Amino acid sequence: MSKSINTEQEEPQMFGHPKGLFYLFFAELWERFSFYGMRALLTLYMVQEIFKALAERDAATAVVYASYGSLVYASTVIGGQISDKILGMRSSIFLGGILMAIGHFVLAIENNMAFFLALAFIVVGNGFFKPNISTFVGALYKEGDVRKDSGFTIFYMGINIGGFIAPLLCGWLAAEFGWHYGFGLAGLGMLTGLIFFWSGIKKSVFGDKGLPPNQNVYEKLVLGIPQKTLIPILAIIAVPLIAYILAQYKSIAGGSSFIGDETLVGLIFKIIGVAVVMYLGSIMIKAKLEERKKLFMAVLITFFMTLFWGFHELSGSVITLFASRNVNLTFINASQTNALNSMFIIILAIPISLLWAYLSKRNLNPRTPYKFGFGLILAGLSFYILALSGGNADENGMVPFAYLFIMYLIISIGELFMSPVGLSKITDLSPKRIVAFMMGIWFLSSAYAFQIVGFISKQLAIESTDVNVGGLQTLSTYTNGFDLIAKYSLGAGLIVLIFSPLMKKLMGNVH
Ligand code: GLN
Repeated sequence: MSKSINTEQEEPQMFGHPKGLFYLFFAELWERFSFYGMRALLTLYMVQEIFKALAERDAATAVVYASYGSLVYASTVIGGQISDKILGMRSSIFLGGILMAIGHFVLAIENNMAFFLALAFIVVGNGFFKPNISTFVGALYKEGDVRKDSGFTIFYMGINIGGFIAPLLCGWLAAEFGWHYGFGLAGLGMLTGLIFFWSGIKKSVFGDKGLPPNQNVYEKLVLGIPQKTLIPILAIIAVPLIAYILAQYKSIAGGSSFIGDETLVGLIFKIIGVAVVMYLGSIMIKAKLEERKKLFMAVLITFFMTLFWGFHELSGSVITLFASRNVNLTFINASQTNALNSMFIIILAIPISLLWAYLSKRNLNPRTPYKFGFGLILAGLSFYILALSGGNADENGMVPFAYLFIMYLIISIGELFMSPVGLSKITDLSPKRIVAFMMGIWFLSSAYAFQIVGFISKQLAIESTDVNVGGLQTLSTYTNGFDLIAKYSLGAGLIVLIFSPLMKKLMGNVH
């Protein structure tokens, strides 16, 4: 006890938290600024620029967007492992940040050939940056430090401040001056994030945190090259490979299928999925009954989260297209509507965490399965609102902005019911020996969510030779699609609620 007080005094503090948190906060704010600024433009850029010559431009966009999203989250599993074993968090964050910045600047070149290369830079960069900056936040606190949860809430705010400002600014620049200005600003955002991180290191606010886990391993020669140099080299070699994989959208768009109607990324994720399920199955068979029940729940929670992100992440694809083709926008453009989710998270994160605390005091805080059930129901309701918007369309097939606004409000409440709760439950429910593996699975849930996004976006793809297609031509495709998504999400939420009493028992002492 006295030791922990000593350490707290040794490391600089600010507003009751380790000073390092504020450097990580701004580094992540700017990294997410670049990530979400670029994401706000990505779908429209593909539809209106990269694939504009194709009648199946929506389908091609859907596939590339899904492949990019899947790989950008799956790479975090590898980046996390390499950091744990060799690089340490600091070098990983620098490497990832530099690669992401390069990616955004290559996008700014506005050349079709460079496009896939740019996405691949961001995939590899995010793999090194994202998992490690999150782990770094946790590492600032000692085990059992009660400030850790609020530290993560502050950090989540940083993520969403970036996610709020970026679509507004990058979306405005892209519309006023051209796509490359929007992407260029995203790149500058990433560089700003790196400067914050670097200044934190210069001011020694991180103490000895985030250094390589073992200096000998870090310096160890492999093929005559120290590992600390070899890994960045391998990361760069991976870029053209990933670019090649991302460019394999043709089985759908061009009809020249190479494995049925499958894409390369889809196939890779199916194989990984089968392997993961088999591995989890073998762990469960070997586990003791109590452990098995909890592990089963950890897997179920991850599965529900995948479904939720699968609907939620449609915002950057189909919902952005819907906004551009069928929503009456006056103050903001379609890319800028991507700011709404983060705006509501910023407004609601603290009230909802206070609500849980208030209910906890009265022993009324709902157990995790109920929160997940309600989260999916809220996602369903949000899509139901969008489906209803069709009934209020004008003669040009344009619906009032209020529907989109309310949709984002509702799905953001759903996000706060699930995302912050889920991560900590995974750690509580997993046996110690596989916690790290389960964290990887948690990140993979976002990766698989993008496969759902790809599937849905393909169903709602409009085939047209008119690059300005929209209005009455597209309204019913979207609203019928949203109606179906609403039904699936509401159905899933109801099933979760029905089985919640049983799941509650399986979770044992974990709330
Ligand atoms: N919005 C959160 C972030 O950017 C989570 C997104 C996700 O996991 N799909 O960190």
